[in-house]
Amino acid sequence: MELTNIGTIKELFTKHGFAFTKSLGQNFLINPSVCPKIAEMGGCKAGVAAIEIGTGVGVLTKELAKRCDKVVAVEIDTGLKPILEETLSEFDNVEIVFGDVMETDLHALIKEKLSGFEEIVVCANLPYYITSPVIMKLLEEKLPISCITVMVQKEAADRLCAKVGERDCGAITVGVNFYSTPKMLFRVNRGSFMPAPNVDSAVIRLDISRQPKYTPKDEKLFFRLVHAAFSQRRKQLINPVSAEFRIPKTELAEMLISCGIKATARPEELKMEDFAALSDKISEK
Ligand code: SAM
Repeated sequence: MELTNIGTIKELFTKHGFAFTKSLGQNFLINPSVCPKIAEMGGCKAGVAAIEIGTGVGVLTKELAKRCDKVVAVEIDTGLKPILEETLSEFDNVEIVFGDVMETDLHALIKEKLSGFEEIVVCANLPYYITSPVIMKLLEEKLPISCITVMVQKEAADRLCAKVGERDCGAITVGVNFYSTPKMLFRVNRGSFMPAPNVDSAVIRLDISRQPKYTPKDEKLFFRLVHAAFSQRRKQLINPVSAEFRIPKTELAEMLISCGIKATARPEELKMEDFAALSDKISEK
């Protein structure tokens, strides 16, 4: 069954009484070249297990199942259940868990369904309304996964793959660089989806760092600092950071200078090491 064929998808929908839910980010891939590329570039091969978030009709799930030993997918919409039973019937290495990925205990899921696998990868065409929260959940929970290969909105991909210390970077850029090395893989135009969204997309890959690249004394405080600093992206960070940590501005200016950071710096001018040094300085207070 060709799951990128519009006629096939419409037939499945009619047969099983399924209708798109826009609020769930249901834009399904209809470009046949994209899913095989995500699976290949996402490290799917024999001996590897894959986790997918959001199956749709199973178009990417199939490509993961062809290459990996096992696929576990989390899908929120139970209306897709009868469709998936039909589209994935030839695969006995796929298990679908129906639920909200944000509410799913992924450590427990891996322990229960993927124990024994030396390598686990995540591949997905993410629902755009929760791109950043899903990526940060996958990273912050320190799951035993080696990489995350996901399609996201092009603008989000640019932000995620920006360099920390350059204009395009944001709190999410610092977040992904803390745990991984991001890489832009390829662009996908809006006509590759049904229904077509109003934006283009891109596939990125995050290679998870085995050893932490940065070890601030207090990781929670590090992220509090990053979020406070980027709460006013184009402005000097001294104001929001002083307010967040209740440190008088004169004292914070001295802390910044002692870390080699200008007192007038904007958040996008700081490197990862600068955030780590400032976070340590604040945690010593
Ligand atoms: N993988 C399919 C494809 O490429 O055609 C579908 C991708 S579509 C962009 C996103 C999918 O994620 C939809 O199937 C949607 O129902 C599902 N989804 C949305 N929110 C979710 C959530 N919180 N947890 C799990 N799945 C979710």
